[in-house]
Amino acid sequence: MEIVRPDSVAGVLDALASHPDALVLAGGTDTMVLVNAGALRPEYVISLRHVEDLKAWNARFIGAGVTYARLEESEIAALAELSRTVGSPQIRAAGTLGGNLGTASPAGDALPFLAAVDATIELVSKHGSRTMPWDEFLIGPKQNALEPAEIILGAHLPDDMPWRTAFAKIGVRQAMVISIASVCVTRNEAGETTVALGAVGPTVLRARRAEMMVSAEKDPDEAALDEFQRLVSEESRPITDHRSTAEYRRMAVGVLARRALERCLV
Ligand SMILES: Cc1cc2nc3c(=O)[nH]c(=O)nc-3n(C[C@H](O)[C@H](O)[C@H](O)COP(=O)(O)OP(=O)(O)OC[C@H]3O[C@@H](n4cnc5c(N)ncnc54)[C@H](O)[C@@H]3O)c2cc1C
Repeated sequence: MEIVRPDSVAGVLDALASHPDALVLAGGTDTMVLVNAGALRPEYVISLRHVEDLKAWNARFIGAGVTYARLEESEIAALAELSRTVGSPQIRAAGTLGGNLGTASPAGDALPFLAAVDATIELVSKHGSRTMPWDEFLIGPKQNALEPAEIILGAHLPDDMPWRTAFAKIGVRQAMVISIASVCVTRNEAGETTVALGAVGPTVLRARRAEMMVSAEKDPDEAALDEFQRLVSEESRPITDHRSTAEYRRMAVGVLARRALERCLV
């Protein structure tokens, strides 16, 4: 196996152009699981670890190479919260936002946040860059819109980031588990609310009817919260697998969304 370690995006794209089947490796926390299990035998690996441009992070942009350990320090509550829940300190030190987008698992914990704030994803190749809404990038279970010879540069956040944000997830235990269900809720000063759901559909989902209903409530009372919870559960599209049943996921995601919304209302 040959490993190259470019120190620029241009260097990565050059290496990818000459080795289109190369494995692009960021933190390796998804990829190395497959390599160790023998499911992946890459001959040529392009490490992103030394590409400083991918580590850029400011109020409106998160580079693909930014780790959860760094994102834990975010002033955006949901982003810090979700980052603290990922794996263990070792996983958070290595795992990146770009890796979560690259794997595109329906249970990827960064993805409900990106969906709830309507992030756009920037991709770059030797032909230039293109930016697309999150829901055009995440197209199915473990499927994204990345073309061969293209890499993820990062995620752009909107100028009018919501006032309040909250993230919640549930797994079979408190740490080191993949989510059975996860949610990110945002609410701005005008009461406009967004709700994105993870691990309860083929990819991340927005609960649009629940959003519309609760956005019309200036100060949601218990009945409104009940209805919000019911709509979120109804809009989820879970499956039964080795981690949980569809019924449990449907119930849990409604409860999580209600709790996250209550945190945004305080
Ligand atoms: C023990 C353990 C616990 C975990 N817990 C969680 C958890 O709680 N929540 C969660 O969401 N995930 C969890 N994960 C999964 C993993 O940590 C995350 O998905 C992480 O974001 C992957 O990032 P990475 O940098 O390690 O990606 P890598 O493994 O390096 O790459 C993953 C995929 O993305 C591609 N890729 C990476 N960067 C780019 C780029 N810039 N451009 C194009 N393609 C790219 C790679 O080619 C590969 O296909 C866990 C994993 C382990 C092993």
